Amino acid sequence: MEKDCLFCKIAGGEIPSRKVYEDEMSLAFLDINPVNPGHTLIIPKKHFENIYDLNEEIAAHLMKVAKKISIALKKTGVDGINITMNNEKDAGQVIFHSHIHIMPRIKGDNLPMWPGKKLKDEELDEMAKKISSGLART
Ligand code: AMP
Ligand code: ZN
Repeated sequence: MEKDCLFCKIAGGEIPSRKVYEDEMSLAFLDINPVNPGHTLIIPKKHFENIYDLNEEIAAHLMKVAKKISIALKKTGVDGINITMNNEKDAGQVIFHSHIHIMPRIKGDNLPMWPGKKLKDEELDEMAKKISSGLART
């Protein structure tokens, strides 16, 4: 429990939420400002700031919960689902307690998607090398 963390308070029941799922490790509740009805947030009950420090076992568990919730949302009649996690301020993270967004999509909702950049082959090759050597060091 991190002092002054909104999602720790929601996990602890100190602040109410529209809970849709709960187990020993995680909690899922409706986003208060949904991109579409049914937009759900999944959080670990324990405080982790983002993907970098998130415990690996919990990360895997959150993805299992994401799958369950996606299937339940699909049954409500949505046309598609985006799954996103914002990590760090520059990536749009506002609440610094790790969370996964499950965002229902509705045909024609016209939500903006990120634009793709054109990179040169060499730039793509170099990035692939950098990332794999970063992985080799972890
Ligand atoms: P992020 O930008 O990834 O940090 O997303 C934070 C999300 O939390 C936003 O989509 C907010 O609408 C949502 N949010 C903020 N306060 C609450 C709250 N009390 N209950 C539910 N969702 C919230
Ligand atoms: Zn927290």
